Order: sequence, then C-alpha cells, then structure tokens
Amino acid sequence: MDVFCKIVNGDIPCYKVYEDEVCLAFLDVNPVSKGHTIVVPKQHFEEALDCDMEVYLHIMKVVKTLATTWVNKLDAKGCNIVTNAKEVAGQTVPHFHVHIIPRYSDEDGYRAEYVKQEGLDLVEIMHVLTVE
Ligand code: AMP
Repeated sequence: MDVFCKIVNGDIPCYKVYEDEVCLAFLDVNPVSKGHTIVVPKQHFEEALDCDMEVYLHIMKVVKTLATTWVNKLDAKGCNIVTNAKEVAGQTVPHFHVHIIPRYSDEDGYRAEYVKQEGLDLVEIMHVLTVE
C-alpha cells in the first residue's frame, strides 16, 4: 500500500488541512515553500492519467479553492499547481496527487525549468495531436 493510502486510512499521521468525502489535503512533509500542500483522492488512482474524470474534476475544484485561500492567508505572491504523472515526470508516490506550492520569491525551493529542445517539427506534431 502506498504512503498516501496509509494516510487516507489513518494508518500514519499527517498535517491535515482539508477533508471531504472524496479527497484529503495535508502539508507536504518536505515543504519547498511555506504552505506546500498535497491534495489526494481517497480512492486509489496511480496518477492523473488513470484517475476517474469525476474524481479528477472534484480534486481540481478543491485545489483551486485551497490555492486561492492559501495565497490570501499566507500573503503569497502566487503559486504553482503541479501534478507529476509517472516516474519519468518526477512522480515518487504512485497515488494521484496535486501539489499546491505557494510562492513568495524565486528563491523558494521549487524549480520548474523549461529547456527548449531543438529539432522538433511543430507542424508534424500538430497534425498528430490535433483532436477533430
Ligand atoms: P511527487 O514527486 O510528485 O510524487 O511528490 C510526492 C511528495 O509527497 C513529495 O513532495 C514528498 O515530500 C511528499 N510526501 C511523501 N511522504 C509524505 C508524507 N508521509 N506526508 C506528506 N507528504 C509526503
């Protein structure tokens, strides 16, 4: 059983900040900024890609509400809302979760770096990806 299932089941403690019938939100134990929060569905899904759509939409509604509240309460200047899907994307806990990371300055502990990759044919990719 993954660590977030254990938290949901009450087998291990957490710093709970919000709960409803579908989801639980708690402070990340390795915070990269003040208020860094993890929101998880109570039901087990490996990651965002395999999450039931209704549950996913519920989680994202809660995330928006909490993120807005956190920014106001903590006087943050903004926030990152992040989910990592699968190991290649940096996921370490195999239970769908969304990070809310309030931001105060570029010296907070969160880094998202966009490094442009040369040689990608955008026309070809657009044709592959266009949804009719
Ligand atoms: P990710 O890399 O997106 O899978 O993020 C997993 C996050 O879960 C990390 O930021 C961890 O610090 C956090 N984490 C792991 N175990 C716990 C725990 N017991 N309570 C709270 N947060 C946790």
